Amino acid sequence: MSRINELREQLSLFDEAYEQGKPLISDTEYEKMYSELRELEAKTGDINPESPTQMIPFIKVDGLETVKHTIPMLSLDKTNNYDGLRKWYSVKEEVLIQPKIDGLTVVLRYNNGHLIDAITRGNGLEGERVLHTISTVKNLPKTIPFTGYLEVRGEVYIPYDEFERINNGEYSNPRAMAAGMVRRHDSSQVQGLRTAIFDLIAAEGQEFTTDYDQMFFLSKQGFEVVNTARTDYLDRVIQICMEYQEVLRNKLNYPIDGMVIKYDSLELRKKLGATSKSPRWSIAFKFPSLEEFTILREIVWQVGKSGQITPVAVFDPIEIDGVTINRATLHNKQFILDQDIRIGDRIVVARANDVIPKVVRAVVEARTQELVLPEIPTKCPSCGEDIWIQPDVPHITCLNPFCRDQIIEKIIHFCSRDAMDIEGMGEVNVRTLFDLGFIQNPADLYSLNNKAEEIEKIEGFGQTKINKILEGIEKSKNLPLSRLLYALAIPGVGKTTALALAQKYRTLDNLANASKEELANVEGVGSVTAQGIWFYFLNPQTKDMLQRFVEAGVNTEEMITETKETLTGKTFVLTGTMSRPRSEIETLIKQNGGKVAGSVSSKTSFLVAAPGETGTTKYQKAQQLGIPIISESQLMEMLG
Ligand SMILES: [Zn+2]
Repeated sequence: MSRINELREQLSLFDEAYEQGKPLISDTEYEKMYSELRELEAKTGDINPESPTQMIPFIKVDGLETVKHTIPMLSLDKTNNYDGLRKWYSVKEEVLIQPKIDGLTVVLRYNNGHLIDAITRGNGLEGERVLHTISTVKNLPKTIPFTGYLEVRGEVYIPYDEFERINNGEYSNPRAMAAGMVRRHDSSQVQGLRTAIFDLIAAEGQEFTTDYDQMFFLSKQGFEVVNTARTDYLDRVIQICMEYQEVLRNKLNYPIDGMVIKYDSLELRKKLGATSKSPRWSIAFKFPSLEEFTILREIVWQVGKSGQITPVAVFDPIEIDGVTINRATLHNKQFILDQDIRIGDRIVVARANDVIPKVVRAVVEARTQELVLPEIPTKCPSCGEDIWIQPDVPHITCLNPFCRDQIIEKIIHFCSRDAMDIEGMGEVNVRTLFDLGFIQNPADLYSLNNKAEEIEKIEGFGQTKINKILEGIEKSKNLPLSRLLYALAIPGVGKTTALALAQKYRTLDNLANASKEELANVEGVGSVTAQGIWFYFLNPQTKDMLQRFVEAGVNTEEMITETKETLTGKTFVLTGTMSRPRSEIETLIKQNGGKVAGSVSSKTSFLVAAPGETGTTKYQKAQQLGIPIISESQLMEMLG
């Protein structure tokens, strides 16, 4: 077979797998083969209408009705570098810049103010009718004020938190889940979907000169419109793309895989026209993929601070978003069994919305030989004691309180930044000091100063280092009770619960004497965690350790934070997706004496807008009323 036919055959196969939500190769590998095919076709003049370069595959779901699009949906021209953007920007006029949400594109039709149809993209010429599932999308208006015929295009997607909540292992990423949900027959099982509109196709009797006006019109109809920025300055376009790629991509609660840049003037768009495949007035700037494929070589089992034993995948090194990795978590024993992951498998590793790389799934279709099932350990890899395995619990656990790795992990956690913040006590140093017998539990840290001269002589320590560690230990004595509680790694007590407990009980003594029933009533503490906390303080070893903290002068009280006056008399309105949850920002404003309102009025003091939020109603209103518009970081500066 000629190379050109080989590429066509393989790419068609890959297209099909991708459409079904189970890609066989990474985007990077795909792009490479795709551009090779495109070059070969250009060089030989061998153009075939059925080639993957000419045709989008359309895998129909049985039972869904096929519907023709009123206007063919072309695909976008792509670039993955700024030079490509510069080349494309031939006319120096205003462009709109929008993040490209990674979901499923749908066409929505309205008439007489009602949503009357919803159609998937399909192959661009025809798609599937999915009105039954789209009707469940909460942030999509089913009725709008405009009564003429209206047609829009938007992306249906699943936010990361919804994906985590709903996914039971069936889908490998939010995009696949969105595509699967939208195309279900039974809409009663559909949940978590959201939409963001990015294109107006028709609005009967309405005349617009710019796309920006169209977007504004749509947001006034009640649609959530994709974040839109506008500029006629190429450097600013590049700056916005960079901001999204390097910062916002990891902070937004939904997946984006690039940016879309399009000329704002509708007249200019008409003038520029389109090729057979894509419009000339628009381009997609693709981000590097956050998912890569590699070969699983080994599974290592690691004992955590609470005894949980986590499988870690060791694989051939891959680069994701500029970072080379060869290890990623496999979550728990149940994940390995459910996903049927085997040593030697081709696996998908992702680093999305999180810095911790995760194994997403095995490409079972790529197995060419019989692979052996990995062994689930029955003895703890650290202490050799029997492991607690329960069929209905996803994790396996070592219950031995003297388990070496468990204690080491507890001490590392105790010293970590969000806990007691003792610098210089990372994995390596803690292991050394543990193995040499200097620390056997966190309380030993507070008598380390008596052994400074001995430790100084250990290779890798030295006077400067030990002094720095001792300084950190000394400083940690003044931290509030909430930090100490978090540092103790009590089962089920994370940062939030530690703070709630500290604020309720104020002192370690009060907490240690609380009853199970009382504890269960604290916000965020259920009966299981309450039982765990109560049991923790009952243990004589714990009592002994806590007594030593007190003797060493470690603070065991929580001061109550008073409301500050920084923002008194000021009212804030928020718009767009910020780097932290909105509830958190609202709490910060309130704690500083400010107020938060839902809409902009003459009483608003500041509008806090996320980057690219210039298209929203709130933004326009604030501009009209002359209300200062500030960024999230400016708000943080105000808080000091
Ligand atoms: Zn153990």
